[in-house]
Amino acid sequence: MNTLELDKIWKSIKGELEIVANPAHFKTHIPGTYIKKIDDNDKIIEITSPSEFQRNFIEERFYGHLKEIFTKIVGPEYKLMFSVTKKEPPQVTLSDLGPLFSSANKENVDASAKAVEFGLNNQYSMSRFIVGNSNRLAYAVSTAIADAPGKVYNPFFLYSGVGLGKTHLIQAIGHEILKKHPEKVVLYKTGEEFLNEVVNAIQKGQGSTAKRTALKKKYRNVDVLIIDDVHSIAGKDATQEEFFHTFNALYMSHKQIILTSDRAPHEIRTLEERLSSRFSSGMIADIQKPDVEMRMAILRTRNEELNLNVPTDVLNYIATAVESNIRELEAKLLQTVTVAKSRGKELDIDMTISIIGNIEKQKQSRITPNTIMKEVSKYYGITIKDVKGNRRLKTLVLPRQVIMYLLRNTVDMGFKNIGDLLGNRDHSTVVHGVDKITKVLSENVNLQKEIEQIRSNIITES
Ligand code: ADP
Ligand code: MG
Repeated sequence: MNTLELDKIWKSIKGELEIVANPAHFKTHIPGTYIKKIDDNDKIIEITSPSEFQRNFIEERFYGHLKEIFTKIVGPEYKLMFSVTKKEPPQVTLSDLGPLFSSANKENVDASAKAVEFGLNNQYSMSRFIVGNSNRLAYAVSTAIADAPGKVYNPFFLYSGVGLGKTHLIQAIGHEILKKHPEKVVLYKTGEEFLNEVVNAIQKGQGSTAKRTALKKKYRNVDVLIIDDVHSIAGKDATQEEFFHTFNALYMSHKQIILTSDRAPHEIRTLEERLSSRFSSGMIADIQKPDVEMRMAILRTRNEELNLNVPTDVLNYIATAVESNIRELEAKLLQTVTVAKSRGKELDIDMTISIIGNIEKQKQSRITPNTIMKEVSKYYGITIKDVKGNRRLKTLVLPRQVIMYLLRNTVDMGFKNIGDLLGNRDHSTVVHGVDKITKVLSENVNLQKEIEQIRSNIITES
């Protein structure tokens, strides 16, 4: 298995581990750890960490969880082995990607080295972005921006549900700009990273003025600012303030601004009005769910890129079965191949149906009350503490009621248990909350859309 495949498997393992592990332990001990090797002959999976300390901790505290998750994904017969590798995890290099880079000439190599420095990932190139009905407009706008950054569509606001290609496309714009305009300075950050940087810079204490000046300088001296998942800054006053000024400064000097979100600007409830009107002032495009032709095209391409040798009828079956999003589609392809490999049999349609059926069942059964609370809070930009607390702001009441509704309807929890979980609320408060959402849902299309989106986030994260 090549590095890319191991990385992908590790990513899904980590996703599951994060749900069940102690969050503080996860954050401290997992970074830098990765799968070094999967030995299919001896059935050994080597998991390696950057330090003895991390290795010991993971082996002692995470073994049970990891064993369980690996059993689900690759089968029970693999043994886990824990090692130490004292260096950074292997970066995907140009030569690893081989065919993904159609013309790895000198300029492109320079551009891609620079890209990494600016926060871009080389996997997300424009040439790997598949265009279909669902993303044609977004793609056209993106290529126009790459030709003339700051001149045609500014700001560019791109939105869609999870896993539909926003990050890929805006990173691809960054890469194209660097190829065509090597002198430009590009900066890619997630809304959350921006938020953390602001929070860090406004902390009082020694050097705080210097930190704030440095932050301003960093963000205002770029030619292209790309902020992914910008909704993360909604409701955070100091961060919105800082972003407002950064936005204005860049906009006035005709620098390109590119933003993404999971919904349109005016639908981000706690986003300041002055920001949402600025975000809407240029070009807005969305990406829809891919149709079946596009899903097939994506699977065929991945199959070739990764040399998976999956028969066409199996690819077509997966394309028909997985409608939700492209991340999910890729994950299913990979999981299917991995399970087939662990069973040591040729992958055919019957086997695919059973594997996908199993994955779905497990996914459904893995949805937990905590995932529901986490995803709803994330969607509305509030914290779990807010959910459990007593404040009765409108911005908190709705998310609380949506959580009640989803706990009732997705994991079938009792009213009393729901009340207990949400900070010891009354049985009758929960009944009222669930009724309220049920009623509003029957008449309000926006809420229907929101809840559908949250449901799909919950499933993707489960
Ligand atoms: P989002 O940011 O909208 O959640 P991502 O950009 O992370 O979605 O996309 C999820 C996965 O799907 C990534 O691996 C990405 O490369 C892939 N992907 C999404 N859209 C396309 C596309 N049009 N062509 C090729 N791959 C795509
Ligand atoms: Mg993204």
